[in-house]
Amino acid sequence: MNTPGLGRRAGQRRSRQREVILEELRGLKTHPRSDELYALVRQRLPRISLGTVYRNLDLLQREGQAIEIYCGDFVRYDADVSTHDHFMCRACLRVWDFESGRESSPEPAPPDLDRDGFVIESQYTMFSGTCPDCGAR
Ligand SMILES: [Zn+2]
Ligand SMILES: [Zn+2]
Repeated sequence: MNTPGLGRRAGQRRSRQREVILEELRGLKTHPRSDELYALVRQRLPRISLGTVYRNLDLLQREGQAIEIYCGDFVRYDADVSTHDHFMCRACLRVWDFESGRESSPEPAPPDLDRDGFVIESQYTMFSGTCPDCGAR
């Protein structure tokens, strides 16, 4: 993978890719899937592959710069890493940030799972139902 002499250039290209991916993700409130983000990033970096976008999203998530939201069979991404809840429409599968007014009520304490070897990496509530567009139908 790392050809001597090319390493530096490849490294710069890699960090540029990650920058663009994060910028695009931060510009969206729609919690895109990796393929949706790929379509946007490709407009700026035409030679990038879906695999590269996916790998970078995984890395950003591990670095705490993005979060993964599991929506049934697929994963959505969010650059807003603050604790907030989501609403998913079960008809169109879109996801919104959702204010549940949790600030005013005490946050439920995470279960004590330490001794069983479970590691909690994130906590959010996913509400589901129908959005105004789909509910009206
Ligand atoms: Zn909907
Ligand atoms: Zn969100």
